[in-house]
This record gives sequence, structure tokens and C-alpha cells, in this order.
Amino acid sequence: MIQENIDPAYKTIDAPNGRTLPLPIDHLEPVSGWGGAATGMSYVYRPGTIEQLREIFSQAKRYGRTVGLRGGGNSYGDAAMNDEDLLVDICRLDRILAWLPDEGLITVEPGVTLQHVWEHTIEDGWWVPVATGTQKITIAGGAAMNVHGKNAWKVGTFGQHITEFDLMLPSGEIITCSPEANSDVFYAAIGGFGMLGVFTSLTLRLKRIYSGLIEVEALVKPNLHQTMAWMEDHLDDSDYLVSWLDAFSKGKALGRSELHRANYLPPGADPYPAQTLRVENQLIPPEIMGFFPRLSLWRFQKPFWNNWGMRLVNTAKYLAAKKNDGRKYREPHAHFHFLLDSLDWRKPFGKGGLIQYQPFLPHDKAETAFRQILELCQNRGLPNYLTVLKRHKPDPFLMSYSLDGWSLAMDFKITEKNRERVVQLTREIDEIVLAFNGRFYFAKDATLRPEVAQAYLGEEAIAQFRALKQRCDPDNLLQTNLWRRVFGSR
Ligand SMILES: Cc1cc2nc3c(=O)[nH]c(=O)nc-3n(C[C@H](O)[C@H](O)[C@H](O)COP(=O)(O)OP(=O)(O)OC[C@H]3O[C@@H](n4cnc5c(N)ncnc54)[C@H](O)[C@@H]3O)c2cc1C
Repeated sequence: MIQENIDPAYKTIDAPNGRTLPLPIDHLEPVSGWGGAATGMSYVYRPGTIEQLREIFSQAKRYGRTVGLRGGGNSYGDAAMNDEDLLVDICRLDRILAWLPDEGLITVEPGVTLQHVWEHTIEDGWWVPVATGTQKITIAGGAAMNVHGKNAWKVGTFGQHITEFDLMLPSGEIITCSPEANSDVFYAAIGGFGMLGVFTSLTLRLKRIYSGLIEVEALVKPNLHQTMAWMEDHLDDSDYLVSWLDAFSKGKALGRSELHRANYLPPGADPYPAQTLRVENQLIPPEIMGFFPRLSLWRFQKPFWNNWGMRLVNTAKYLAAKKNDGRKYREPHAHFHFLLDSLDWRKPFGKGGLIQYQPFLPHDKAETAFRQILELCQNRGLPNYLTVLKRHKPDPFLMSYSLDGWSLAMDFKITEKNRERVVQLTREIDEIVLAFNGRFYFAKDATLRPEVAQAYLGEEAIAQFRALKQRCDPDNLLQTNLWRRVFGSR
């Protein structure tokens, strides 16, 4: 398990009556982060009503237990884990409460997924404003981490499209928050990784679309500099931009990439919008070439999931992309955003899983920092297997990771043998990120230390967050492994 500095004594809280809850063994389940490198056991509850949710908190307080929250479990590290204590999985609270197709406003319970939202709205001509690489996230999980998409520099983060939410405090009280009402809680609970309360309903403003298709342009760039320069030059005339870097390339080719730019189709550009907007025409076929199951692909990938194999895969991918340089095509929105879901991306990494590390760097320093990071990984013999570059802009949330700059998401394979070395490497990368005034992202994190969080968030933001936590959750019931690892419990 990649968790350090956890004092087990932090796990329980003082029960007013001095009793501890005899935890029922039939609720004990193995729980892991999506990357599979952080694993543990928790007493998992799946409430089907708000009343049941309230009761869990009331019992937890009575018996001195802590409660962690979990959505779809797609955070890579330990953000949705609460080892050896209560974990509330909110996935059964999954009803769409209201949909206003004229305004594009949808109100949902917390466990509704991104997939559920777009499938409900696309035929009315609305798409999710921020789409993550998986559609399996819940709206609450997306809000708690304040996720971003491949359009982050343009539309900002998820929270900027949430108009209002209801938050159940551990006391059972429900407060409504928006930029106008309880605004301090609004700007802290979004991105507040489930530490202030439980989202019980959220209202989201969607994006109007005029076709079920999106126009994609696939390009190849020979190095990091040209990749970033091209993206920067096309911020104004693109709706989505993302690059996949070959983390094995060196010297002049360092950071060579396959780049995708995508744009929405304007009204009239699609001759058959009613047809392309059908849900069935968005779904990614489960087979490749009509016969080979995508979900079995990992069996063929697995032998290549080592440094030599991945060097080969990255080179082959780059050369194949080069043949198609400049190709333009139209594809369904869901294909463009959620291809990873159709493959079992985690499986080829094997038993030890993976950790993802995604630093955010200011625009003027990002290229230098990313060069140093990519070279450092290579020098340490730990090149990352999937490397994704995106452009971002600042947002107004208290615990924000975002800035006017770039992020580089890097997947590191974890084995028994390299675990310590990878952790050590992340320590070294932390230093580079801090030296260039960068930031970190809890949804992907597995290794951040308190002093690093303090350095990038600043004492003032952390003090404000702690004060809000004290106000919303005075008994400190809400805890996760991430919270204890990075902020301690009290
Ligand atoms: C393949 C893949 C691709 C991804 N791509 C992206 C990407 O492009 N961009 C990006 O930003 N992220 C991305 N992610 C990360 C993912 O979007 C986030 O981790 C997201 O928060 C996961 O949502 P979830 O519903 O699975 O929540 P979980 O991971 O289960 O939980 C996330 C947080 O939400 C809290 N929480 C859960 N329910 C509630 C509630 N009701 N009220 C308050 N807090 C709650 C939890 O305590 C936890 O802190 C990706 C993940 C995967 C696996």
C-alpha cells in the first residue's frame, strides 16, 4: 500500500459516550483505489435513502467511528478509502431528480454517473460540459475532486458548471450551497475531497450540441516544444486539445507526441443530427473489427507492460500516428472521450497496479519542468507508460489544483521490486514541481506529503479549509486515507 505517515491513532474519534461500535463483519470488504496500488479493508455501507445515510452518521458519532465517502471508486489513489473504518458508497443514490431540456439544467442524486447524465440528455441536444477519461465517475465524485476534461483551458473545471448543490453535514442537517448561498462552503466543498459533507443533490449546467459527432484532427509532433507550441497556438480555435507523449523518446525527440484536437460541429454541419444524437450511435462497440472483444485486449498487452515492451509500444504508436498525420474525421462524442472505458486499461499493469502522478505547472515554466521530469524518470529507469498533456486555466475553488498552465499525467507501473523506487522518484519530482510553483491533484495522488501540500496550497488556504471543516464537521467524522496522509486528522 502506498501510504506513509499514517498514525493509526488518528483513525477513531472520541465517542461522547466512550463506546466504540462493534463493526459488523458482514460489511467488511476489500477496497482499493482505481490504480490498484493502494489497497485496504473497510466496513462498506451502501445507503439507498438519505435517511439511511443520516443514520450511518448518527451511529458513527455515537460509537466513535469515522466515515469515508466513495463514489465510483475511480480516484487512482486513496481518496475514496477509509481503512478499517466506515466507508459510505453513494452509488445507490442514483436518481435523476430534474431535467430542463430548454435550459440544459439537470439535477441529480450524488451517485448518478457521467454516463447516466449524457445518455439522459444527448437526444435533447445536450452534452456534459466536462468529460473525464472515464464516464464511470459519479457526479458527486466529480464535484468532490473538481475534475477536468480535455477542454480545461477553455471551460474550466467541473465545479464551474455546478450551479447549486445540497450538502448533508455529518450532523444530518442539509444545507443548500451556490455561488450566492453559503458560498464559502460552495467554493470549498467542490474540490474538498469529501471532507466537509455529503453531496445529496447537485445541479449541473450542460453544453448545447448540434450533432452527435465531433470533428477530430490527429497530428504528430516531433518533440515537447513543438507539441506545446502547436497547442498554445490553437487554444482559440479548438474545443478540445490533448497530447499523448512518448515518455521513452530522448534528446531532440524528447516528448514527441500524438496530438488530438476536436471541435463541436456548428448547427447545420451534420445532415442527420437526430440520428447521430441517438444514444445507441454513441456506444463504443464491444468488439474490435466486429469479432475481437475489447475487454480481452489486455491479455495481449500484458507481455508488453514492461520497460522494453512499452518502449516498443510507444514507438509503434508514434510511427502509426505519423502515417496518419493531419487526418481529420468525425466520431461520436463518447468515442472521443471514453475510449479507455472500452479497454480494461488497469489490467495489463498486473497485480501491483499503477499510480498516476499529475503535476500542474505554470505556463511559462511548464516546458522546462516537464523536460526535467521526463529525463529524471528515464534516468531512474522508471519511464511512465502513458503520458497525457493538457492545458488548463485557474479556477475559484479553495483547494484548487488548477492554474494558467499545463498538466502532465503519468502512469507508473508498480511492482514489489520497484515500489520504493517509484515513491522515491515522486519525491524527486515533487521538488521540481515545487521549484517551479506547480500544484498537485488529489484525484490522482498516492504519494503527496503534508509539507508538499502546505507548500503549494499555502498556509492560508489550508487554515481556511480547516476552519470550514471544523464548522461543517466539528466531530471530524469525515475522514479518508488521503485526508489523514496529507492533512492529519485533527
Ligand atoms: C480511466 C480514468 C480516467 C480519468 N480521467 C480523468 C480526467 O480526464 N480528468 C480528471 O480530472 N480526472 C480523471 N480521472 C479521475 C476521476 O475523474 C476522479 O478521481 C473522480 O473524482 C472519480 O469520481 P468517482 O465517482 O469515481 O469518485 P471516487 O473516486 O469514489 O471519490 C472521489 C472523491 O469524492 C468523494 N465523494 C464521493 N461521494 C461523495 C459525496 N456524495 N459527497 C462528497 N464527497 C464525495 C470521495 O470521498 C473522494 O474524496 C480518471 C480516472 C480514471 C480511472
